[in-house]
Amino acid sequence: MPKYQPARSGRKESKFRSQPFIRGPLSAFDNALTQFDRAAKTMKLTKNQIAFIREPRRTTEVKLPVRMDDGSIRVFKGYRVQHNIARGPAKGGVRFHPDVNLDEVKALAFWMTFKCAVIGIPMGGGKGGIVVDPAELSTGELERLSRRFFAEMIDLFGPDRDVPAPDVNTNPQIMAWFMDTYSMHNRGDYLPAVVTGKPLELGGSAGRASATAQGMVFCVFQAADHLGLELHGAKVAIQGFGNAGSFAAKLLREQGCIIQAISDVDGAFFAKEGIDPEHAIAHIQKNRTLKGFEKVASVERLKDPLKLLELPVDILIPAALENQITRKNANRIKAKVVAECANGPCTPEADDILEKKKTFIIPDILCNAGGVGVSYLEWVQNRMGYYWSNERVLEDLKTMMDRAFADVLRTSLQYKVPMRTAAFIVAIEKVVRASELRGLYA
Ligand code: NAD
Repeated sequence: MPKYQPARSGRKESKFRSQPFIRGPLSAFDNALTQFDRAAKTMKLTKNQIAFIREPRRTTEVKLPVRMDDGSIRVFKGYRVQHNIARGPAKGGVRFHPDVNLDEVKALAFWMTFKCAVIGIPMGGGKGGIVVDPAELSTGELERLSRRFFAEMIDLFGPDRDVPAPDVNTNPQIMAWFMDTYSMHNRGDYLPAVVTGKPLELGGSAGRASATAQGMVFCVFQAADHLGLELHGAKVAIQGFGNAGSFAAKLLREQGCIIQAISDVDGAFFAKEGIDPEHAIAHIQKNRTLKGFEKVASVERLKDPLKLLELPVDILIPAALENQITRKNANRIKAKVVAECANGPCTPEADDILEKKKTFIIPDILCNAGGVGVSYLEWVQNRMGYYWSNERVLEDLKTMMDRAFADVLRTSLQYKVPMRTAAFIVAIEKVVRASELRGLYA
């Protein structure tokens, strides 16, 4: 959601199960390793280097008993994975979703390691998740679950250890509960740097809410420049209309793009002349979902929401979940540019097909790195106790993203490899160097 919203409350019907994901046997972690292996081969990494980096350093699974409003106790499952911390404390979001599993969290933590490295921030890779459909919980239940998760793994977290942030279905309010739980465990000290993506009133950073989409837009500027694509009038389709997707729609419309299609878990909507993102955001603020959007705006509801991915647009932005573009539908993707706001939306098989079609992919570990980029700036501001203006944050983010895009594009041209492999090469070099400089302890 573009604006900070209080946590979801007492809705008993689930809105996360109404649409099947393209998932099945696809393992996000296997896909992540394939991406890594492609870069490792190009770079001719040694067996030792590969062994050191491939597997996560620490994997934690916890049971989370929570008292529900009716007095019963429900036990949830939670995970935190720290993939690599050679370059700094683990950094990465916490996802609340019924499909969360260890394989997914490992993949997401893995991508965080390389995302932080590709944009050059001194942090490692982490990720967490709880197997839960938050739409089924009241606000009180959600708060107790969030606090129990943080308390259960309190020793893992810390400003110099592991710094979580929001991801799918988590928001600034949940970050505030994490921060408060951590602070209360530390004799009530005010310790905002343990988590980012907090509300502004609690040490959040200007520009954090829109940072993921803003970083993507900076990449799209560079890609358009490289490809000779005119952004004014460019047609865009966006899958997922949460934090990343809704800001992506707003920011690209401001650049003169035509947002032809948007979707969320409850459906996909199309308008040839363009959708006004503000209408869609207002609809979601009222109804918590895009369901029924076709009744209030002149848009068509797509019978098959996955067809959004196949529309003849210039820019396709997956901004929902993993494994959306696979060998089954990659051949039908028509966009010239795929800008991955989501983590892991394309499988390696899909990458190969898109590569043959000369689709320009801005890979997730580069494209959506603006979120962690501004999270890092939030962490820095928390530690200084001095806060920057939105303009200052935007300027720093632009510098980070432009430099990273240039590094990746140069590497892609130098090694004649796709942008994803190039992004991994840029990142792996930094992780390997830091690991070797540190050496092995004891
Ligand atoms: P969010 O919870 O705010 O929004 C997720 C959106 O995806 C919702 O609109 C939801 O309805 C929709 N969705 C879920 N399943 C769908 C499906 N099958 N088809 C269509 N839409 C579906 O989450 P977010 O923070 O915007 O994250 C979206 C993606 O961006 C995730 O992959 C996340 O890891 C990635 N990401 C987010 C951030 C961030 O700062 N929030 C940073 C980097 C990457």
